[in-house]
Amino acid sequence: MYKAPRGTSDILPEEYAYWKYVEEKAAVLCHLYGYRPLNTPIFEDAQLFTKTVASGTDIVDKEMYIFEDKSGQELALRAEGTAPVCRAYLEHGLFNLAQPVKLYYSGPAFRYERPQSGRYRQHHQVGFEALGEADPALDAEVIEMGWQFFRSLGLSGISIQLNSIGCKLCRPGYLEVLKQHYSSYKDRLCPDCKARLTRNPLRLLDCKKASCQDIAKSAPKIPDYLCHECQLHFQSVQNYLRTLRTPFQLNHRLVRGLDYYTRTVFEVEPPEKEGQSTLGGGGRYDDLIEALGGKPTPAVGFAAGLERIILNLKGQHLDIPPLPQPDAFVAYLGQEFKIEAMKIASELRKAEIATIMATGDKSLKGQMRQANSLGSTYVLILGEQESRNKNATLRDMKSGEQQTIPVAEIANIIKSRLHDSQK
Ligand code: AMP
Repeated sequence: MYKAPRGTSDILPEEYAYWKYVEEKAAVLCHLYGYRPLNTPIFEDAQLFTKTVASGTDIVDKEMYIFEDKSGQELALRAEGTAPVCRAYLEHGLFNLAQPVKLYYSGPAFRYERPQSGRYRQHHQVGFEALGEADPALDAEVIEMGWQFFRSLGLSGISIQLNSIGCKLCRPGYLEVLKQHYSSYKDRLCPDCKARLTRNPLRLLDCKKASCQDIAKSAPKIPDYLCHECQLHFQSVQNYLRTLRTPFQLNHRLVRGLDYYTRTVFEVEPPEKEGQSTLGGGGRYDDLIEALGGKPTPAVGFAAGLERIILNLKGQHLDIPPLPQPDAFVAYLGQEFKIEAMKIASELRKAEIATIMATGDKSLKGQMRQANSLGSTYVLILGEQESRNKNATLRDMKSGEQQTIPVAEIANIIKSRLHDSQK
């Protein structure tokens, strides 16, 4: 028996109600804030990720799905959504449009991680990106949007962590003092952090190991080392967030797992904080588009993980609208009425009535059981008695009431009843 690969899962129809709910909320929110949808390919030139997310990060060092295609080109499954959006922005000349260009996406991302609850090898992200604008008001708007997204889903107890990691002018100075601090504790560092000390010191602050966390607590704080412009930017973001009544907590150890961020970084946490719990994260990435060969272009964005959101929706026992059920089920009493039943089912669908046609020549009892388990609102029964007078029996599955109605009137009657029941 084949199974879905480790760290991936099938989304069955019952589960799909959650996905639809979250994706629709995201789409409504993006429309409200002026973001337009885009889709990028599932795989890209591997360097799009290796050069931007950068070595020294777990994503690039350990987690990429990289393969060669038959032409020998090195490709990677999409590891995250931002770099592909920037690639598309450059490739299609979106920098020629009025800036900022606001885009959103929803789709899978692939990372070779150790699977556990909330951590998978294929997960799904919804993300929104605003490209071509440096105004801190946009950082605040993106953070507010993230906040409103979780509120609109009905999740409670959500918090936002905020930090600034400076720019290419002030960060190197900070990294020097950070390295000095950590060098004096070198022997106590975990093997990963020993490597980070030379390859990617900022990520030292993010280590989840208890011994490294102790060292991080006493580490110099990046907000104290920001240049004047970065300080002003960070202050403005905070002021705008207060104006927008979006709550946040400053966290000077927040650095994010991807290397392209500049200035603002933020993460959204659920009430139960565990290792794998972060619901979403984002920030400013003013150097990324230039790193991909474009002109220096400021940008800011956010992405959230659908699986973790759904785990939280379930954990908080929120009522999710079920997937729509069939309006009608067409049953037939014997082979000779099957053709007529099929014609009726086809006509009902043309009239936009969601209809299931019974198949398999089951007994009436079997057909009714099937209609019931599918949750159909009405069942139409075609048999000799009905057919003789060009009639059908319409059964309301909720009340159990039955009525004989002319075949020619079926669609109109069902439509008007469905309409009345929605009032
Ligand atoms: P990132 O691109 O790492 O900032 O991730 C954005 C969001 O995607 C995270 O906050 C998580 O909600 C989700 N996420 C990231 N990696 C995984 C994973 N391996 N499994 C499930 N969700 C993930």
